[in-house]
Amino acid sequence: MNKAVRFTLHLMVASVLAGCMPSPMQSSVGPVPTVQAPIPQPAFRPTPPVVVQNPWEPDASPRKWRHIVLHHTASSAGSVESVHEAHIGRGWDGIGYHFLIGNGKGMGDGEIQQTFRWREQIHGAHAKSPNNEYNEYGIGICLVGNFEETDPSDAQMASVKRLVSVLKHEYQLTESQVIAHRDVKATACPGKNFPIGEISRSSVFPVLAGQPGTYVTEQPTAFQIVTVERSNLR
Ligand SMILES: [Zn+2]
Repeated sequence: MNKAVRFTLHLMVASVLAGCMPSPMQSSVGPVPTVQAPIPQPAFRPTPPVVVQNPWEPDASPRKWRHIVLHHTASSAGSVESVHEAHIGRGWDGIGYHFLIGNGKGMGDGEIQQTFRWREQIHGAHAKSPNNEYNEYGIGICLVGNFEETDPSDAQMASVKRLVSVLKHEYQLTESQVIAHRDVKATACPGKNFPIGEISRSSVFPVLAGQPGTYVTEQPTAFQIVTVERSNLR
C-alpha cells in the first residue's frame, strides 16, 4: 500500500469516527471532497534498465575462474595489438590479459576487446604470484591509461562495470574476488585513481527465469565488442 492510499484511508477512518462520513446513498448528492497526501518525489530516478545478452560467451568450456584482476596499461594509449607486441617482447605467449578496454587512443573509448585467451579459456599472464594462482584462475582485465596520473574515462567505467558484473554473475564470483593487481604483488597497478571498490561492487540481475544469459544491468551505455582472433595477431 503506498503512502498516499494509506493516508487517505486514515482520513476516512477519522471521518467515520467524527460522524461526518457521507453514506453511499448520500454520495450521489455531490462530489465528496478528497484530500490528497503530497506524493513524495524520489531523490534519485534510476535510468530504465536495459536487457542485454551475455556478449562474452567463450568458445571453449570455462575455466574454474576464482578471481577477476584489474590492471592499467600505465600508458596514455594502447590497443590489443600494441600490448600483444609488448608482451611477446617479454617472452610471453601473447597479450597476457583476457580483456582490454580502450580509452579512445588506439582503441575506441570504452571499447571492450576480448583476446584469444578469453575465447580459448587459456590461463592469463598478468598477475604473477608465488603459486601462480592469479594467472591460473584470474580473469585479467586491463584498461588503457595511466591511472596514477588520470582517471578512467566515463565510457571506460561504464564498460568495465558492465563486463565485471556479467562475469561475476556468470562465474559466481563475489565482490571480494574482484581485485586490483596491487593486491597480488608490490605494484602501483592499476594506479591510485582507479576506483576498484566501485567496480568490484558492480552487479547484474537475472531478469527472466529460464533464460540464461539475459541480464539487466545498472549501467546501460553504448559500447562496442570486438573479438580479436589469435590468427590476427603476429
Ligand atoms: Zn597490472
